[in-house]
Amino acid sequence: MPMHEYHPMNYRPGTAEVAETAREWLARRGVTITQIAQLTLMLQKDYYPNLTLEECEKNVEAVLKKREVQNALLTGIQLDMLAEEGKLMQPLLSIVRNDEGLYGCDEVLALSIVNVYGSIGLTNFGYMDKVKPGIMKRLNNKKGNEVHTFLDDIVGAIAAAAASRMAHNLSGDDKD
Ligand code: MG
Repeated sequence: MPMHEYHPMNYRPGTAEVAETAREWLARRGVTITQIAQLTLMLQKDYYPNLTLEECEKNVEAVLKKREVQNALLTGIQLDMLAEEGKLMQPLLSIVRNDEGLYGCDEVLALSIVNVYGSIGLTNFGYMDKVKPGIMKRLNNKKGNEVHTFLDDIVGAIAAAAASRMAHNLSGDDKD
């Protein structure tokens, strides 16, 4: 959309625009679908020995189609980026930049993703949050100027939601 058409009062983002932007931002922050799918595979491989990375990728893709998930992605990544650029106001800037232990809003935002597939996702998300495997480890290492206070939880939540979706579908529940 050309910039001159933009006016905050009459602009309504379309479904496709929100979906595409969420995916674009995820990629721009250095996270791939495959990396998230690897977390899902890790969560599920003991229950489904024949599970492939490809199947996990399909479930991650399906999770990313949900508007709640896209909204959480856009919100979290935006806050991370503003913190990186020093554009949040104090004391929030320091809290987000340092990923302070008592903050917790990053986990709460990520729960909006997990909730899409019911309470089964909670256990998986709790596990991801504790172990921080794979890509989550890189996002959480706090080296350099990058801030991923929100994104690490969001990535863990997407992986957990994909695992839950798979469990529901394989048990014959409603397909999303
Ligand atoms: Mg975090």
